[in-house]
Amino acid sequence: MQNFKKISENIYYLQEIKEKDYPNMGYIKGDKFSIMIDGGASHKQVDIFKKAVKEKGFSYPKVSVITHWHWDHTYGMSSLLTNTIVHSKTQEKLEEMSKWSWTLEDMNKRLQSGEDIEFAHENILKEFDDLSDIKILKGDIVFNDKLSIDLGNLEVEIFHTEAPHSDDSVLIFIPNEKVLFLGDCVSKDYYNNMSHDKDKIKLLIENIKDIDFKIGILGHNKPIEKDDLMKILYSFVN
Ligand SMILES: [Zn+2]
Repeated sequence: MQNFKKISENIYYLQEIKEKDYPNMGYIKGDKFSIMIDGGASHKQVDIFKKAVKEKGFSYPKVSVITHWHWDHTYGMSSLLTNTIVHSKTQEKLEEMSKWSWTLEDMNKRLQSGEDIEFAHENILKEFDDLSDIKILKGDIVFNDKLSIDLGNLEVEIFHTEAPHSDDSVLIFIPNEKVLFLGDCVSKDYYNNMSHDKDKIKLLIENIKDIDFKIGILGHNKPIEKDDLMKILYSFVN
């Protein structure tokens, strides 16, 4: 049984599981309602999240904010029972994937055509014992530039950024607690020959360097202090 780890007064996260490619999932505890970050890789990861919410005695989130379209952040969406907020580019990919058929034969075809990649393909096969369990939903609320949510005690700022990992990268900033959720946005682009585009990294740096956050939460790593994160980003472009 995996429990929440506390980041700040009202922010918790469920820790990633490397072998399964499960990402960190966030929980932001609001007075009016709570929100979660990311949709999880599958119903199995979402079940772990639901148990962690229950174990704390917290209210189940009403809204989930999706950081980007990759399977490990979205294939749990159909089990969430929340409304989901997605960027318009994430929505385009979700729409495309919602039409995919889930037989090994069709998965192999997508691998050959380059629509999917080996890394995701293998992990999806490991995760879903029954491929017919895969149901990909589109988001409920779609935005282009930015959006804010008032949780009563907290303001949550959601915005799109250019980033090397994917074109639909969404960041979530909670000013009161100085926490920034970044998804996988600092990583390489697995769907584009592992490119790590310096121009996109520079744009990402521009977009976050003035944000007053203390802790950054990445998709697949331990929480990181802003100074350390910025040093890593600058080292990529220098
Ligand atoms: Zn990703």
